[in-house]
Amino acid sequence: MNYDLHSHSWYSDGELSPTQLIDLAIQQKVDVLALTDHDSISGLQEAQNAVTNQATNTVIKLIHGIELSATWNNQLLHIVGLNIDLENPILNAGIQQNQQRRQQRAEQMFEKLEKHDIYLREQMNDIVYSEAVPTRPHFAQALIQIGKVKDMRRAFKQYLGRGKIAYVPMQWATLEECVNWIVDAGGIAVLAHPVRYDFTTTKLKKLLVDLKQMGGQAMEVVSGNSNPQQIAIMARLANEFELHASIGSDFHSPKTSWAMLGKSRLLPKEVTPVWQLF
Ligand code: AMP
Ligand code: MN
Ligand code: MN
Ligand code: MN
Repeated sequence: MNYDLHSHSWYSDGELSPTQLIDLAIQQKVDVLALTDHDSISGLQEAQNAVTNQATNTVIKLIHGIELSATWNNQLLHIVGLNIDLENPILNAGIQQNQQRRQQRAEQMFEKLEKHDIYLREQMNDIVYSEAVPTRPHFAQALIQIGKVKDMRRAFKQYLGRGKIAYVPMQWATLEECVNWIVDAGGIAVLAHPVRYDFTTTKLKKLLVDLKQMGGQAMEVVSGNSNPQQIAIMARLANEFELHASIGSDFHSPKTSWAMLGKSRLLPKEVTPVWQLF
């Protein structure tokens, strides 16, 4: 079974519609796909319809997911929620909070850029899908379109990254709040891409202790283009802290070939896969 439990649509910073995402997942021979947009569940209805409308001989299973932005010890974390109840009021109120923070941040980013005579409001109107949450990759795309930078990497390096001119320090929901919302909605809270935070091992272990104690049940052992060495280290940590192991491409766009849908490395045999909890 090919599991891909972390992906994005244009309801956040992904390039494809949920329908296009499901089509691609089928093409890539994904059996179980989680759509996990940043701080949004708005794409899941369309994704579910696309799955339901498939010919009966294609069986792809959709996991209802989200990727929540969290703050832990003044650090940004991403917490994936899998198998969440979309109707849950606690989760929906939490999502509202993070979406409000995103709207306020976008406004502050416009203002910061305008002080440098960079005007992106119109571009952003065209770029951000009408029901989507605004994200920094959208700003990157706007900066590329007006010719300020050549690519996404430079947009972050010169404008959007920590300490750069459009950077707004954020207080997202706390880790505990995010885990609680997911658990209240009957879901599984998963630490997303632990290798990407550049934490020391000591700090990462402290995080795993906190996560577990708050009710988190899993961590991504394989994420996007993680290499065999990173996977081995994460597998060991998952086992040490008795966390289930998840796997996801963190797919955003077919153009990002190193994070293609359904094309991550396999989970090592010694871990306990998160789908045992499904
Ligand atoms: P946001 O949650 O709006 O702050 O945007 C975060 C998203 O930006 C992440 O989920 C990535 O998809 C993307 N991202 C973060 N850092 C970089 C970077 N240095 N280069 C390209 N994309 C990035
Ligand atoms: Mn993203
Ligand atoms: Mn993430
Ligand atoms: Mn992601």
